[in-house]
Amino acid sequence: MKETEDKKDGDSILDILTSVGLPVISGALFIVWFINFPKDPVIAFPLILTLVLVLYAFSGNVYSGILACFSIVAAIIGLIFIEDSSQIVYVLAECALIVGFYFVFDMYRERYNAMKNAKSEEYETLDREIAIKDSELMENKKRTAAMQQQMRNFQQIGRMLQTFQVSLDEKEIIAKTGDIAGQFIGSGNWKLKKSVHGDVFAKYIKDTGLPLIVTDVSKDRRFEFVKNRYLSVIAVPIEVNGNFWGIIKGTSYKANNFNDSDLRLLSILSGIASTVLNNVHLYKKVSELAITDGLTGLFTQSYFKERLREEINRSRSNKVSLTVGILDIDFFKKINDTYGHQAGDVILRQLALLLRGRFRETDLIARYGGEEFGVIMLHTDPKEAFKVLDEIRKTVEKERFFIPAEGYSPAQVKVTVSIGFAELGEYNISVESELIKHADSALYEAKNSGRNRTVEFAD
Ligand code: GH3
Ligand code: MG
Ligand code: MG
Repeated sequence: MKETEDKKDGDSILDILTSVGLPVISGALFIVWFINFPKDPVIAFPLILTLVLVLYAFSGNVYSGILACFSIVAAIIGLIFIEDSSQIVYVLAECALIVGFYFVFDMYRERYNAMKNAKSEEYETLDREIAIKDSELMENKKRTAAMQQQMRNFQQIGRMLQTFQVSLDEKEIIAKTGDIAGQFIGSGNWKLKKSVHGDVFAKYIKDTGLPLIVTDVSKDRRFEFVKNRYLSVIAVPIEVNGNFWGIIKGTSYKANNFNDSDLRLLSILSGIASTVLNNVHLYKKVSELAITDGLTGLFTQSYFKERLREEINRSRSNKVSLTVGILDIDFFKKINDTYGHQAGDVILRQLALLLRGRFRETDLIARYGGEEFGVIMLHTDPKEAFKVLDEIRKTVEKERFFIPAEGYSPAQVKVTVSIGFAELGEYNISVESELIKHADSALYEAKNSGRNRTVEFAD
């Protein structure tokens, strides 16, 4: 662009020179020649011819044309007046030489111009190619930037997945998702909400099924009525098992705090959270179906309850006694805190093994909860039950549990259990939950009265 402007400037200067300068100079030279012609035509005549050719070569405009005509006419008249014939020969030879030079010059000039044109065409083509390459380069740069952004997103997603790890605790997942949103999306208060109760944004998302960005709550017609101190809201739905489960919501006291790319990341996070929560849902279902507990090999709580229901009916109709006991490890949290969760698991497994070995063939033992065990004792009255259960309590008290430690030999840990039990007959119980409740309150009593003891339910 700049180059062509420069060219234009150059052209206009040449125009002025040729249209004004050359006629003025040549006019002056013409006058000089006209005065001197009769005196020395050998110098003056070629001078005018050179002038004419120069004018012709460089300008070709109207003035120089007229001037050239005048000059030629004057030269011819001048030739007539030359008296010395040898001078005519000189002048004609000079003229032939100049014209010869002119044609040679003109030929090279034309060749030069043709070359120049060819070069300028070549340059134009090159310029066009460079422009195309430039735009391709820009396009590639944009594509590379988009790919890099996508890679960064994938890395973030990978990190999100790693952060979740393999957790199957719903509460933990809820807390973690909030943390992850804060970590990956940035400023704002983040929450994973299971219920829509009292939350207009959650209700809106549940009704519409769509993600939501509010840049300024006070100016948004949909939520004008909301009296909140925060201004920006971003939220996406979470579905579990094909149904609305809840939302991930970010709020900020600043307006315009969230943008579309935050929404995209949040949608990915909600997808991951949905999958993880779905796993929890499935795990719960599978656990309910399973008969034995994975860690201890004892029966599961659901199987324990099912069997208790059946045994209650049988015992009632056969009019035989039945006792249910619940054992709970004392201060187990402390063991976990001191030696770690894995060490806790080892103890749970060892204790389960001990219980299996100590209870009678007819007793049905289950892992009732985390560190709680349930036992159904068929044909067993409270007196006998106390004997069996308290014997086991004492055995546990004496037992040394071994847990893997960093050093060569494993660490030894002492554990005690508290036991509560209840008998079926005495209180006219017909449902298993009531009998468990009685055993549970006896356990509560055992804990309250100092732990490491066996207590029978008493009204
Ligand atoms: P208390 O004497 O009142 O029973 O005290 P506690 O610490 O045993 O009772 P609490 O109910 O407060 O804690 C039970 C602990 O058991 C908390 C939990 O971390 C731990 N727990 C539950 N399930 C498991 C498990 O499967 N493995 C391990 N290692 N620990 C578990
Ligand atoms: Mg407990
Ligand atoms: Mg306990």
